[in-house]
Amino acid sequence: MKNTFPNYYKSFSCIADKCPDTCCAGWAVVADEESLKKYKNVSGAFGQKITDVISVDCDGDTVFTPVNNRCPFLLDSGLCEMYIELGHESLCCTCRQYPRHITYFGARSETGLSLSCPEAARIIMQSSEPITFETENTLDFPQPTDIEPELYFTLLDARKKAIDILQNRDFSINQRICAFLLFSQDIAPHIKHSGYKQIKNAINTDYFTKEKSAYSQRRANGAIKKYFSDFTNLEMLEPSWKDALLSAQDEDISCSAYETKSFEWEYEHLMVYFVFRYFMTAVFDKDLLTKAKFAAASFIIIRKLHACENAEKERRTQITQRFSKEVEHSADNMDYLHKSMKKSRFYSIQNLINLIWEK
Ligand code: SF4
Repeated sequence: MKNTFPNYYKSFSCIADKCPDTCCAGWAVVADEESLKKYKNVSGAFGQKITDVISVDCDGDTVFTPVNNRCPFLLDSGLCEMYIELGHESLCCTCRQYPRHITYFGARSETGLSLSCPEAARIIMQSSEPITFETENTLDFPQPTDIEPELYFTLLDARKKAIDILQNRDFSINQRICAFLLFSQDIAPHIKHSGYKQIKNAINTDYFTKEKSAYSQRRANGAIKKYFSDFTNLEMLEPSWKDALLSAQDEDISCSAYETKSFEWEYEHLMVYFVFRYFMTAVFDKDLLTKAKFAAASFIIIRKLHACENAEKERRTQITQRFSKEVEHSADNMDYLHKSMKKSRFYSIQNLINLIWEK
């Protein structure tokens, strides 16, 4: 099997008790069947503790019931009691894997690091060099799949073009994201209706030469209200996240002193992260445009959050990490946003482009 991953992927190592956040704070960790079988054989006081904390949540998943919003195995020291008592192999699938994410496409897979982990976010936002990708053979067996090979390879070419656009530093980050949106808008209907041959024309088109319309404050007001209404309606891990969003909504960055020129590469990395993580999943639902809209809308919100605090580098990374943890790590949140982005005219490509030019 072949696996593709970003160049920073192998640099990750969990910083455990040095982590300012810890992944199991705020989340109810879902235990997989294999691990549950192993836990049944654990005897003594720790075996009893495992039995006591396991419950079934409202989605029907078997979870370790959080205590005071923390995993019951997360010690005050920041270390994991399960790891200390039974070793790394005892960790459930979620804990062994996090913050690595993996998507299978039959005989190929893609792995990355989630921005929701502070250490992963630090690594992703560490270097200004453009992110590159590597592919290597693994010993894993191919997963059964019914994806269309032609769609898969077309999307691979399209994603390469999207990433090339986003990493083209001859242009400002705003120009690049707009070109990326226009490109996505052009190819999305062909993906949906299996017109893969037409996508070749789009791949050869120069999207930077397309006309830029002037920023409209009136148009921006309605759209930004809708975006923040959607993002504040999501289920939240911490109530202070809602306050942060509400403060950012009122921030008029068009006339603020917040200047992004010297660190545009951070937004480039952010967009490449979203495109690498989600673009290819259009192979499962043929809905490419919503994935592009999610990336652009997230950029708009994150930039506003940064601007609102006039945040320095370390703080910008913290805000981006928090966004990812609050938004990306809830299937319900992602589902809610995707539905809204599909339906609402405020998420049209024109409205997104207008908001990108707010600054
Ligand atoms: S959030 Fe990341 S660095 Fe922190 S404990 Fe979890 S995996 Fe380790």
